[in-house]
Amino acid sequence: MDNNFQKKGGISVETEHIFPVIKKWLYSEKDIFLREIVSNACDAVTKLRRLASLGQYDSGDETYRVDVLLDKEAKTLTVCDNGIGMTAEEVDRYICQIALSGALEFVEKYEGENKNNGIIGHFGLGFYSSFMVSDTVELITKSYTGAPAVRWTCGADGEYEAEAGERDGHGTTVIMHISDEEAAYLEKYKIEEILDKYCAFMPVEIYFTVEGDEDATKKKEDEKEPEAPKPINDTTPLWLKNPSDCSPEEYKEFYRKVFHDYREPLFWIHVNADYPLNFRGILYFPKLTNEYESIEGQVKLYYNQVFVADNIKEVIPEYLLMLKGVLDCPELPLNVSRSYLQNNTYVSKVSAHIVKKVADKLNSLCNTAREEYEKVWNDIRTFVEYACMRDHKFYDRVKDSLLLELTDGSFTTTADYLEGAKETHENTVYYASDKAAQAQYISMFEAQNIRVALFEKQLDAQYLSMLESYVPEVKYVRIDANVAGALKNEGDATADSALSELFVKVSGNDKLKVEFANLKDAGVPLLLTISEESRRMDEMMKLYAMNGMNMGGGYPLDATLTVNTASPLIEKLGGMEDEKKEKTAAYLYQLSLLSQRKLTAEELQKFLKDSYSVLDLI
Ligand code: ADP
Repeated sequence: MDNNFQKKGGISVETEHIFPVIKKWLYSEKDIFLREIVSNACDAVTKLRRLASLGQYDSGDETYRVDVLLDKEAKTLTVCDNGIGMTAEEVDRYICQIALSGALEFVEKYEGENKNNGIIGHFGLGFYSSFMVSDTVELITKSYTGAPAVRWTCGADGEYEAEAGERDGHGTTVIMHISDEEAAYLEKYKIEEILDKYCAFMPVEIYFTVEGDEDATKKKEDEKEPEAPKPINDTTPLWLKNPSDCSPEEYKEFYRKVFHDYREPLFWIHVNADYPLNFRGILYFPKLTNEYESIEGQVKLYYNQVFVADNIKEVIPEYLLMLKGVLDCPELPLNVSRSYLQNNTYVSKVSAHIVKKVADKLNSLCNTAREEYEKVWNDIRTFVEYACMRDHKFYDRVKDSLLLELTDGSFTTTADYLEGAKETHENTVYYASDKAAQAQYISMFEAQNIRVALFEKQLDAQYLSMLESYVPEVKYVRIDANVAGALKNEGDATADSALSELFVKVSGNDKLKVEFANLKDAGVPLLLTISEESRRMDEMMKLYAMNGMNMGGGYPLDATLTVNTASPLIEKLGGMEDEKKEKTAAYLYQLSLLSQRKLTAEELQKFLKDSYSVLDLI
């Protein structure tokens, strides 16, 4: 081909509406055009490096780089590389045919898809995505082979022109003439933001320059030399290194940089899977300040160091998205839809491998670094419990490493708890759901040498139901549901049917069960207990009611009143005359309700009224 060739063409018939489609339809994912153009530039350098390493090219002392140049006045954004470049034939083949058909295929595949399914645009649209923001795209390229440079331009109407061009040295320059509607892409901060998001770990140094940016070029007065410009990216991200070569400081530094989280992560997992599963990544357990924050994890997915998207739940189970981390999956099928990812075996193997690694980490901490594990347990338990609820397999893997926090601040496993409790009770874990409100019960249990676990979080009720469904022989009983049963009964309590009837009467609940027990240690005259099942049912009803579901209401709670015959007050009660007896019984009953925190507004009012009349009795 002679040096003065000129070629014109129209991007063929079937493609005539590709530009309007690319422009309008990928609206929400527009930012990716820059990722596509910059990653092409990095690829071009990688290809040349490979040729050099194969001895097919002598790179001398060349340093490879990619430059992103913003010129607001000229309304251009330029990406320039000193990579492999293209000959005129290659421009024709790669840009006019391959790139175009790639873009076409992409558009065809997605035109029918729901635009809101979130995955569109996450995966490569390629060179033509530059038309999302440009009126005209210019490409000036020179092949490393020394073939003459080519200048190719294409307008938004799809008409292109190729002619001899001029370029110093090999490589490719893509000049995007930003359209007026997309002027936002001429703002420095916008480009910085996109580069930071998508290009932070690309494998070739990327420099960003703004034409006429005084701040950046001005020599500072107290400096002899202006600072050497720094690349915007880290070309060798930590996840690519061998875990045994990485220090804790490096992991923490990487975490700070990537997630802008200045609290130290609790611990991390460096996944380095080669054959047959080829992917790498680092997952961090973040330090949480409260249990709700945990939902805002962030797992960034990369494809060969190119950022693809955050939190793709097809690649990592949704419950692990509470973690923070990076995953680089070079075998991720590109240009695929969400449903394809869901059914892809590589993707599901990656996902299963990650789950296994997370479980292994928890088990190894529990077994070999127990002290450290106990320290972080309260930070990770919401996450671990949630994961167990979502995935039975995950539960099976970590079940021996699930800790119980006890009211005295120590930790134990369920197995150890049950082993230690054999003398007092079997297959029951007693727990408190509110350390302050149930303090009285807790001390009653502690006096009997029964250890009490703490389940105070919102998720815990569901978590306990799950544990019971997985291991039905072990029951979790809240301490106020079985106080009397756990306390030592000295025996010989005589039932007093008149008293029993009186309590039923003053309670206004004809289903109330009344029992008599000789509980020397209890220190209270009456103990009201609501059975565990009945209370859980009640809580569930309330939850439904809160969500606007009417479950009929008035669910009768299965309540038992234990009368402590060892209490002097009960003894006194027996000898009182009728009116005083009834008033006192009602009052004692209200006190037992109070310790269950079961008083309604009306009951509270009645309680106060009765308190005054009891004082009258003195
Ligand atoms: P993809 O990168 O997925 O192959 P693109 O549409 O982005 O698709 O690009 C198509 C082809 O054009 C590339 O495969 C490459 O051969 C060529 N190309 C694009 N940009 C460059 C560049 N900066 N330097 C050299 N070749 C390039």
